[in-house]
Amino acid sequence: MMNTIIGNEREIIKLLRTAGCCHRCCLRFIGSRETNYYEDPLLALEKLEYLDKSDIVNTPCTVCLGILQDELFQSAIQKTSEEIIRGNYDCDTFTVALTIPVLILLRERSLQIYLSQSLKLSDEAFRELKLQTQSIKEIWKLLAVPKIENLTNKIGEAQKVTSVFLVDIFFSHSRDEEECVALLKKCNAEKKSGNSRHKNREISYSRKNVESTLDTLNDDQFVDNCTIPPTSVENFATIDKVNCAHSSLFIGGRYNKLSRNLCQTPWFINGERKMETSVQELLCDPILKHVQADSMKFLSSGREDVDVRMLNNGRPFAVELLNPRITKFPEGFEKLVMDINKNSEIVQITSNLKLLSKLDLKKLKEGENEKTKNYRAFCICKPNENTSDLINKLNDLKNLEIVQKTPIRVLHRRPLASRIRMIHSIRAQLIKSEELEKFSVELKNLEGNELFVVDVKTQAGTYVKEFVHSDFGRTVPSLCSLLQTDVDIIALDVTGINLNWP
Ligand SMILES: [Zn+2]
Repeated sequence: MMNTIIGNEREIIKLLRTAGCCHRCCLRFIGSRETNYYEDPLLALEKLEYLDKSDIVNTPCTVCLGILQDELFQSAIQKTSEEIIRGNYDCDTFTVALTIPVLILLRERSLQIYLSQSLKLSDEAFRELKLQTQSIKEIWKLLAVPKIENLTNKIGEAQKVTSVFLVDIFFSHSRDEEECVALLKKCNAEKKSGNSRHKNREISYSRKNVESTLDTLNDDQFVDNCTIPPTSVENFATIDKVNCAHSSLFIGGRYNKLSRNLCQTPWFINGERKMETSVQELLCDPILKHVQADSMKFLSSGREDVDVRMLNNGRPFAVELLNPRITKFPEGFEKLVMDINKNSEIVQITSNLKLLSKLDLKKLKEGENEKTKNYRAFCICKPNENTSDLINKLNDLKNLEIVQKTPIRVLHRRPLASRIRMIHSIRAQLIKSEELEKFSVELKNLEGNELFVVDVKTQAGTYVKEFVHSDFGRTVPSLCSLLQTDVDIIALDVTGINLNWP
């Protein structure tokens, strides 16, 4: 006759104990969710009259490998709490995740089959047994999280996809590889002899491979390939590491670059540093330090060339701070902005710094293609008799369409293409060489040349230098063609990036 599980708890626990299961695992298999029971499992099993006091043998559990047994359980809580405290995170909450030896999956299934065989369970009762078995990870958290809360003064949160502060605890066991490899080898050999499409592929030992192999085996195949019930183990599992990580923080603002001799990111050629510092370092290193993050990624809406200044309202930027310890800023960023601006004359923050959301970042990325930009170009040309007139006429141009082939200077990193870009407006005026100094422009020989300044408002992605000098006729029209003479650019400033930011 087929049996059910209800009413057979005493028998189940006896079988599990004989197979080397710890008391907490016994409670798991009979489906208990009572925290109290798990706190003192021997007492609970006694009360339920499933066991008596004499049952105190405490060898490594054949299924949880010690993860739910007092000694390892206590030391895992201790170590986890220590790591959280040592990390010095200001976050009030935490979420725990456990990585347990994949061997446990195999052994748990073996035990369920063992119970089913020994008790001659009906199919339905066997399904029920599988369903009611509580997961090791859930029970571990049920017991451990309140204890970690007490030790760390933080609140444990249920695991969500977007938990901000995640504590990962990794357990391993000395027999994991051996037993899993044995299973993989057997299954592999079977597949090879059969009509498998993957005849020559050895399945290597990894959590994913073991899990998917277990998924493909039905219970009969499992019985053929695994030991039922699982054999005893000599050693407890060990705690490999406890990893604390806070999700990234994004901070953004706008900056000006006041030097014609500064690159945007650290510049190396063959491992050798080319410039002492960069916009990124002057701007982001102090922010990184302020939030005590592990590392950062500098994100900006476009970039300036080394010799181009960024003026006026500044360029929108954001910095991603990885694994930050400080995430609360009750006093804002005013002092940080002041410090950054005081310490660097050539890079200045021109806005407030602001904490950003993922949505804000999207705006930064989208703005890169959609926004308009203002530039001021310092130009030099060989004048003809009508040059002044033509320069004056530039002021009448509105929404001028130009066609630009990929500039020669960027051909090594961009595909060759022709793009239509819009110059929304132009303002041009002649200037004297004495005036150049105030724009940090140096010019050695002006003889016989005319100087003028052009302010343009352009569509995103316009190559302004090429619009001035025509890039050997690759940009049409250009100032060369409009002024009917050779024009060159001696300096460029970005004077506005029209994006609502931060
Ligand atoms: Zn156990």
